[in-house]
Amino acid sequence: MSLDIIAESNKVIIPIFIEKYPVSKQFVGITEIGVGQASTFPGFCEKHELIFQSYEKNGEFSKEDDVIKQLYRNVAYNTFQLKKRIKLNECLTQRHREVIIKRRIII
Ligand SMILES: [Zn+2]
Repeated sequence: MSLDIIAESNKVIIPIFIEKYPVSKQFVGITEIGVGQASTFPGFCEKHELIFQSYEKNGEFSKEDDVIKQLYRNVAYNTFQLKKRIKLNECLTQRHREVIIKRRIII
């Protein structure tokens, strides 16, 4: 999805985690960043990406539903990132094995 759809003045809203010791009432906040700094991931199709527009357009989590949607989105994003890292690690492991075989190194 192009971020231009949800951007205003070339900026988008992203969630941030607020860590305040000892306890913060609000642990999820929102901040504004430039479209160039933001990233998208292919976790949702264009149709379902629109689910998140309610709070992205408003610039705030006004309902519990918005927070649940964002938490779900975070889980999906982290799942995507982990799968990507696992795939990368598998490629590196395979390449390492090939080098070992090529050099006839026995471990
Ligand atoms: Zn979809």
